[in-house]
Amino acid sequence: MDKTLHIIGGGMAGSEAAWQAANMGVKVVLHEMRPKVETFAHRTGNFGEMVCSNSFRSDDHEQNAVGLLHWEMLQAGGLIMTTAHAHRLPAGGALAVDRDLFAQAVTDALMAHPNITASYEEITELPTDGHLIIATGPLTGKRLGQAIAHETGRDALAFFDAIAPIVYAESIDMSQAWKQSRYDKGETEEERTAYINCPMTRDQYEAFIDALLAADKTEFHEGETAGYFDGCLPIEVMAERGRETLRFGPMKPVGLTNPHSDMKPYAVGDAL
Ligand SMILES: Cc1cc2nc3c(=O)[nH]c(=O)nc-3n(C[C@H](O)[C@H](O)[C@H](O)COP(=O)(O)OP(=O)(O)OC[C@H]3O[C@@H](n4cnc5c(N)ncnc54)[C@H](O)[C@@H]3O)c2cc1C
Repeated sequence: MDKTLHIIGGGMAGSEAAWQAANMGVKVVLHEMRPKVETFAHRTGNFGEMVCSNSFRSDDHEQNAVGLLHWEMLQAGGLIMTTAHAHRLPAGGALAVDRDLFAQAVTDALMAHPNITASYEEITELPTDGHLIIATGPLTGKRLGQAIAHETGRDALAFFDAIAPIVYAESIDMSQAWKQSRYDKGETEEERTAYINCPMTRDQYEAFIDALLAADKTEFHEGETAGYFDGCLPIEVMAERGRETLRFGPMKPVGLTNPHSDMKPYAVGDAL
C-alpha cells in the first residue's frame, strides 16, 4: 500500500482502475498522453472518453449478461457505471450516454480524488519501479506497444474494428418504418421508441445481402490478419458466413410490431 500505483492510459479501463485503487487508499499516478499526443479516434483530453459508440449495450440485469455486469460494477461502486447512469440518454433497454458529459464527469471525479494525480505524458517504456497497470487500449502509443510486445514475446499487438454505417434520419421513409425498442423495453415512452425499425421483404433482404457481399472492402495492410471476435463481427463478415446469419442475428424480425402492416417482416434493420 505504500508504493505508488502507476496506471498508463486514462480511458475507461484506466479510469476505473484508478478510482478503485484510490478508494482503497493507494496513491495513484494516472498517465495519459492526450491531449499532448493525440490518437486518430479520441477527440478530447478527457479521461474516460468513449470511442465510437456511446452505448454500453443492454442494461437489463435480469435477462442479459452484459446488464448483469453493469449491475455488478454498480454494486462495486464503479465510477464508469455510476457516471454512465447519471448521464444516460433514452435508448430502450440499452445504457447509452451523453459522451461529452460522461467523460467530463469521469475526469472531474478523478481529479477531485485526493489519492489521484494526473501526468499528461506519453509513456514509451515499461516503468520498472512501483506497481503498474497498463490500460492503453487498442490505440496504444507505438513505442510502448513495441515495449509490451518485447516484454510478452509477441510479434505484434492487433485490434480490428468495423465501420458503422450512418443512415441519415431524414432519408428514412417513416410511412414504412416505425419507432419501437425490441420487446418494448424501456421505462419511459422515449426509451420504448428509441429505435427506428426498417422492415424488409424477402426480396429486399436478399438484395441487401447481395449488395453487402459485393461492396468494396477495406484492404488489410501488409502483415495484418483479421482476428475477429465472434461476439462483435462486422456486418459484411456475418453476411459472408451465411445469407441467413443476419436475419437470425441483429436483423431478426422479433419483438416488434409493425403499425403499418399486419404482415410480419422477413428481416428488420434498426438504428438508434
Ligand atoms: C476506431 C475505434 C472504434 C471503436 N468502437 C467501439 C465501439 O463502438 N464499441 C466498443 O465497445 N468499443 C469500441 N472500440 C474499442 C474501444 O476502444 C474500447 O471499447 C474502449 O475505449 C476501451 O477502453 P480502454 O480504456 O481499454 O482504452 P481507451 O479508451 O483507448 O483508453 C486508452 C488510453 O490510453 C492512452 N494511451 C495510449 N498509449 C499511451 C501511452 N503510451 N502513454 C500514455 N497514454 C497512452 C490513450 O490516449 C487512451 O486515452 C473502438 C476503438 C476504436 C479505436
